[in-house]
Amino acid sequence: MFDYLIVGAGFAGSVLAERLARVADKKVLLIDKRNHIAGNAYDHYDEAGILVHKYGPHIFHTNSKDVFDYLSEFTEWRNYQHRVLASVDGQMLPIPINLTTINNMYGLNLNSDELEDFFASRAEDVKQVKTSEDVVVAKVGRELYEKFFRGYTRKQWAMDPSELNASVTARVPTRTNKDDRYFTDTYQAMPLHGYTKMFEHMLNHPNIKIMLNTDYKEIIGEINYKKLIFTGPVDEYFDYCYGKLPYRSLAFKFETHDQEKFQETGTVNYPNDYAFTRISEFKYISGQKHHKTSIVYEFPQAEGDPYYPIPKEDNAALYDKYQALAKQLENTYFVGRLATYKYYNMDQVVAQALATFKNILKKEAEVTETLIE
Ligand code: FAD
Ligand code: UDP
Repeated sequence: MFDYLIVGAGFAGSVLAERLARVADKKVLLIDKRNHIAGNAYDHYDEAGILVHKYGPHIFHTNSKDVFDYLSEFTEWRNYQHRVLASVDGQMLPIPINLTTINNMYGLNLNSDELEDFFASRAEDVKQVKTSEDVVVAKVGRELYEKFFRGYTRKQWAMDPSELNASVTARVPTRTNKDDRYFTDTYQAMPLHGYTKMFEHMLNHPNIKIMLNTDYKEIIGEINYKKLIFTGPVDEYFDYCYGKLPYRSLAFKFETHDQEKFQETGTVNYPNDYAFTRISEFKYISGQKHHKTSIVYEFPQAEGDPYYPIPKEDNAALYDKYQALAKQLENTYFVGRLATYKYYNMDQVVAQALATFKNILKKEAEVTETLIE
């Protein structure tokens, strides 16, 4: 008899498996329908011997000391600050838009104060910032919005930015200084030996049994367990009873080139050309030295694995209905990007899993107290 059946061996499921096994001494069965652990963060060495991320480039960044300290129990780190260029009108310009972007793009020599005035003179007067279009045009105006955001967003989401919540393009800030890092979080680092190795350390405990290549539906009736943690798509769990929650998918195209370097930085975005959104080169991200180099193109698509919940009001309303069902279930927890239908980064999922663990402990303590009384 297992204390917990955990569906999904990504960050959500693996963090909970680790905490329950190690801290709470619970017996855990962790299953995943894929043939590997680590969920979408899975990395492996390709045929050329280069460490690649199977589900697109994953760069770790967080402001949470708790999350960073927790993961540091399972990995050493390599400091890495991601930098991205956008290919716009034949130029390679840093994104997030910053002082260098504007000076290079327009052949100007503005300082930060002048750039503030430049943005202010172009910004549109948006009464209430609601959509992914509003958030950009209210800061930098329509021309920059169209060159850097509109095309990329339409490709990535198959929808106009005006139809998406502000939170989507708000992930990419605008700066008036020369800071060209993609993220400004306090902690920015890559697991020194990769994500999969970090997950292996996390899950290496006698209380954890792992079953891969297994959809939970195949075994749910045959396994004895007390409580369930589900980290797959929440609508799938409830047999789509209210209809399908929309997710966006991607097709990845990997290439290995017989040259040391393919492009100038870890990721190049192509907002306006081609069917793909970006090309990432793994050696920048991992720091690996190799005479060849491997890259990945991301082609957004509707069909395929559900990678992105789509932040939009009617989708949130549909999710609320599933969440209400989830709340009614005893001894069942929904955790992670797919199970809570949130556009979460890895660190947010780790934080959510750690918070869930605390809640579980609290609940168990209450039950024990009631039994003693
Ligand atoms: P997942 O990793 O999706 O794990 C869920 C697991 O459940 C999967 O392994 C799945 O196979 C399994 N599962 C689902 N249904 C079933 C079933 N029926 N039976 C058995 N198993 C099942 N975040 C960052 O912080 N930085 C980045 O740079 C970054 N880049 C990203 C790039 C891309 C292209 C994508 C798609 C995401 C990126 N993310 C990034 C987000 C990151 O991938 C997620 O935050 C994180 O992996 C979510 O973890 P999770 O455990 O919730 O879900
Ligand atoms: N985005 C854009 N142009 C860019 C980069 C991002 O329009 O050059 C928008 C786009 O809608 C994208 C969102 O901002 O989906 C979030 O970008 P991020 O790089 O955080 O996406 P992720 O890494 O999660 O795919």
